[in-house]
Amino acid sequence: MDSIKIRGARVHNLKNISIDIPRDKLVVVTGVSGSGKSSLAFDTIYAEGQRRYMESLSSYARQFLGLPDKPDVELIEGLSPAIAINQKTTNNNPRSTVGTVTEIYDYLRLLFARVGKAHCPKCGKPVRSMSLDQILTQILKLDEGTRFTLLAPVVNHRKGTHKDVLDRLSAAGFVRVKVDGVIRDLGEKISLAKTKKHSIDLVVDRLIKRDGIRSRLADSLETALKFGNGIVFVETDSETLTFSERNACVDCGISLPDITPQLFSFNSPKGACPTCSGLGKIFDVREWSTMYEWMAAVHDFKTTDLPEDVCPACHGHRLKPEALSVRVGDMNIAEVCAMSVDACKNFFATLALDGADKKIAAQVLKEINSRLNFLCDVGLDYLSLSRKSATLSGGESQRIRLATQIGSALTGVLYVLDEPSIGLHQHDNQKLLATLKNLRDLGNTLIVVEHDEETIRAADNIVDIGRGAGKFGGSVIAQGTADAIARAKNSLTGDYLSGRKKILVPSTRRPIDRMLTFADACKNNLKNITVNVPLNALTLVTGVSGSGKSTLVEEIIFPHLQETLPDGVSKVTMIDQDPIGRTPRSNIATYTGVADHIRKLFAETNGAKVRGYKAGRFSFNVKGGRCESCGGNGVLRIPMNFLPDVFVTCDVCGGKRFNAETLEVTYKGANIADVLSMPVDDALEFFANVPTIRRMLQVLHDVGLGYIELGQSANTFSGGEAQRVKLAYELARPLGRAANIYIMDEPTTGLHFDDVSKLIDVIQRLVDRGDTVIIIEHNLDVIKCADYIIDLGPEGGDRGGQLVACGTPEDVARVDTSYTGQALRKILP
Ligand code: ADP
Ligand code: ADP
Ligand code: ZN
Repeated sequence: MDSIKIRGARVHNLKNISIDIPRDKLVVVTGVSGSGKSSLAFDTIYAEGQRRYMESLSSYARQFLGLPDKPDVELIEGLSPAIAINQKTTNNNPRSTVGTVTEIYDYLRLLFARVGKAHCPKCGKPVRSMSLDQILTQILKLDEGTRFTLLAPVVNHRKGTHKDVLDRLSAAGFVRVKVDGVIRDLGEKISLAKTKKHSIDLVVDRLIKRDGIRSRLADSLETALKFGNGIVFVETDSETLTFSERNACVDCGISLPDITPQLFSFNSPKGACPTCSGLGKIFDVREWSTMYEWMAAVHDFKTTDLPEDVCPACHGHRLKPEALSVRVGDMNIAEVCAMSVDACKNFFATLALDGADKKIAAQVLKEINSRLNFLCDVGLDYLSLSRKSATLSGGESQRIRLATQIGSALTGVLYVLDEPSIGLHQHDNQKLLATLKNLRDLGNTLIVVEHDEETIRAADNIVDIGRGAGKFGGSVIAQGTADAIARAKNSLTGDYLSGRKKILVPSTRRPIDRMLTFADACKNNLKNITVNVPLNALTLVTGVSGSGKSTLVEEIIFPHLQETLPDGVSKVTMIDQDPIGRTPRSNIATYTGVADHIRKLFAETNGAKVRGYKAGRFSFNVKGGRCESCGGNGVLRIPMNFLPDVFVTCDVCGGKRFNAETLEVTYKGANIADVLSMPVDDALEFFANVPTIRRMLQVLHDVGLGYIELGQSANTFSGGEAQRVKLAYELARPLGRAANIYIMDEPTTGLHFDDVSKLIDVIQRLVDRGDTVIIIEHNLDVIKCADYIIDLGPEGGDRGGQLVACGTPEDVARVDTSYTGQALRKILP
């Protein structure tokens, strides 16, 4: 089978399409935003792949998972096991780091366990093993008359009843054990909860320090070391001493635990810093408000929202002192993880190990090095292994998962990717493309939803969906190589690839008369830089991935502006791609306020007056007019435990969300459900005589959202759609006496050339009416339209954070050291 055969796909807006997608190739699916690319790639192909995989599981497993609905498609043949790598699945687990998700941390733990050199956590000297004699000498240093107990650890924090262990000890003639800290008699019945973790120490002997105990102590010590696997606890009234036949500092009398990979795990009680449980941070819970924040942190971790203190015990390194005192080449594991991927590579390349260690470490080092290289290949050499997954951008975490996949060396897999070029500067794009081709050459099929021209041109096969969005899209317009698409008559993608259409460089830049200055910025990697941002102009912040753009804009400029609004500015707003609502209850009508006007209109009809219905009757958010079976949702939510919830259409109202009485009321022949199912463009005609409604709908049309239905749940919007809804809302608001400042981070995410063209028009309209817009962006079509550019770099991470160039695009194009300048030079007239 050399292709994936799809027949009769009708998911969302797809118009019964049939297509063959070549296998073992790099296939790009493109088209304007909302044309149906994700509906084909994710909701049809990937969804069916997932469903077949789950179908293949045992019926036992399936009863817990349930089976997702079959996508609306007649036939799909030639599918392989499918893996989706998209940007939406962010990892909020505070314990997840770049190191753990790439598995590099697992190999580091192994490396440190096998060839790490232990040091005393107290005095820092290398530790040696202690012989029985040395332990004996230490114990005999106890004060005269001290009572002490020799204990041998036999079960260390393990689940089970441990009946066999207890029986064995009893049979060997012992009488007492310490179970979970409590002394128990072996003669009595000791029943332990099977599902809980327990620790059992054997009481070997009880003694009092005085002359003449030496030979009895030596015997007992030998027994204790035998039962305790080389470890013995000496418990007095005031302290517990630990001795080990291995790894102990004789001077300080400190024994280290066994150096196993678990010792370096901040997810295991064996390795985690006990003060912060391995989080590296602590939360002061003396106040209820902090308690609440702590709960929020555990459930949905967002570092930026939280007052956290670095853990005083481990200083954020997450591990016990014993773990941090183990070194490889003079570095402990936390220090290795704090370095950038690039520096790590360097460290391992120059690491000198002697004889046996070199041999032992060879295989592990190979695994570590190849994974570090994969991270460099996807343009992430500036990240550190200790960086928390939750603080990564969508593009960064997507590329990490991509790097992890190459590492796993699977073949025969169908990968479905969502715009992997997001967040990547032109400069890093080639490396990403090489990575994708590498994955293909291993024998995998890649289906990539993408708008980036370089990626489109690099594809073996391009599927162009369109021609428009929503009901105007959903067809396969053209398929083939970039040249074939460029020749296709009806293809918007072809129009831009061939140059029949293009985004023009503005003929003049806006003059600048007022600058805001942000002095001495020095967060994350920013090197104390001072930047100027012009008011009433379009400013672009550029630079390679990791150069410090988000840090400058989101952590310096935005908070500064919020704190002190410049004269003549009424507000500063971040317009991001976050969803505008997470429930099926919000939609563009509710978000923009159009819904209120529509409800009032319905309440004023004769039908409503006769029945005594007020405006609230026409809302699905309150009781009265809505369908109570689904609570006005139109769908019922079926929780799936550890899978995403499944929504099914309400069988009482058939998805209309209102009860039959409400639906009897009509305005111009349409009931409220009919109105909510109108696309913006239809509604624009329908409400042409109602200025308040028309005005808002007109702007939604202008930003290219004419195809969205008024009642379409906001949780089905793509990030790009959500962002344009927010832009439209801002544009429709009348401008008061003072202007606004808008900040946007990569607004071209999810946008086709033609969408980008529309977006630039909208942004220019904002600036034309007096507003200020600041944008972080890699897309050259947007960059070339700037009035002013702030270019950061030169590289990512530590080697970035400097102001490389600033000024008009023409100014920046003259700066040789600027990658943005180099790219601009090629496209400016
Ligand atoms: P693209 O990936 O090309 O941007 P999508 O496949 O996401 O487009 O969307 C195609 C059309 O289907 C759009 O009109 C979109 O609003 C609609 N759509 C997407 N997801 C859903 C959904 N879960 N329910 C209803 N309509 C949807
Ligand atoms: P860009 O937006 O240009 O891609 P960023 O501002 O996100 O760059 O990152 C600049 C540098 O700061 C990078 O080295 C990045 O790893 C680091 N960094 C960014 N955010 C954080 C954070 N929350 N914690 C630690 N380091 C961070
Ligand atoms: Zn700690």
